[in-house]
Amino acid sequence: MPDTILVTGGAGYIGSVAVERLIEAGYDVVVLDNLSMGHRAAVHPAATFVEGDLADRQAIESLFDAHPVQAIMHFASKTLVGESMQQPFLYLGDNVVNGVNLLSVAVQRGVRKFILSSTANLFDQPSRIPIDENEAIVPGSPYGESKYILERILSWLDRTCGLRYAALRYFNAAGATEQRGEDHDPETHLIPLVLQVAQGKRDKITVFGDDYPTPDGTCVRDYIHIADLADAHILALQSLDKGSCTFNLGNGAGFSVRQVIQTASEVSGCEIPFQVGPRRAGDPPELVASSDAITRQLGWQPNYPTLRQIVQTAWDWHQAHPEGYGDRSSDC
Ligand code: UDP
Repeated sequence: MPDTILVTGGAGYIGSVAVERLIEAGYDVVVLDNLSMGHRAAVHPAATFVEGDLADRQAIESLFDAHPVQAIMHFASKTLVGESMQQPFLYLGDNVVNGVNLLSVAVQRGVRKFILSSTANLFDQPSRIPIDENEAIVPGSPYGESKYILERILSWLDRTCGLRYAALRYFNAAGATEQRGEDHDPETHLIPLVLQVAQGKRDKITVFGDDYPTPDGTCVRDYIHIADLADAHILALQSLDKGSCTFNLGNGAGFSVRQVIQTASEVSGCEIPFQVGPRRAGDPPELVASSDAITRQLGWQPNYPTLRQIVQTAWDWHQAHPEGYGDRSSDC
């Protein structure tokens, strides 16, 4: 019998690709998603889909009654830095409380393996670039803080209940597989917004600040392909018998907002007009990961190491799915 993995947020952008890779790797998958951001059509047809909310402890209990969950990948979360600066309780409240609901049922039901989607937003003031796991934790926003609180809770559950966990701190998830890509409403992320300009859905993109202490003045980020992220989750899951772990995950190279616009222009063959606007609250100037630890310890290697490859996959998906998952009026 293959292990059954519960994937919360498995209808969302990153979670749906993790489900795809888990199923390809032979696992049974149960998806729990409230469809507030995700799409029913993004859920792999071989996964069992349960519509429900982590705020509803009874819904979690019922899921565990019905399915023999052995491990959990927890993606379901509010994820926007900017929104968290405006509405902190969605993050310091809901993200934390929902995670605790899930963990308390999981521990009670004997689950001992848990993978947390964590974030580069833990590193608001890095002392060194690329950022490794020894860097001081300085959350950049209520979003980052909510993930750090969950990391701390996990470390205590390891000590007190024997829960083995992996906290994976992703830098900027991007790109698409053939079947699954990025479809948020509203869209706030740079690469899909830039590609919307290339597709003629927007007139231009606004660059949030060009007076940062970076080579061209715009923010530098480390873009990592979602399939590479998903594979890291599976490697981490398979390593948990050896103990808990925390890893930073990126490609180790930074690209500025201007470089992303330029790359998207080359990939799409379209000019991408932009204007410079004010800085966005909560944005650090430069976030680039060192993934040396996960490479050394788990043998993780990205299959999409270049920004151009990543943007190409996103462009291919948006071209093949011009309306995204096509369910905008029903679930967003
Ligand atoms: N960004 C931008 N214009 C946009 C959206 C994003 O200049 O319309 C910048 C943003 O300030 C950040 C980078 O692009 O420096 C990546 O932002 P995104 O929201 O994609 O990811 P984040 O870094 O917030 O996780």
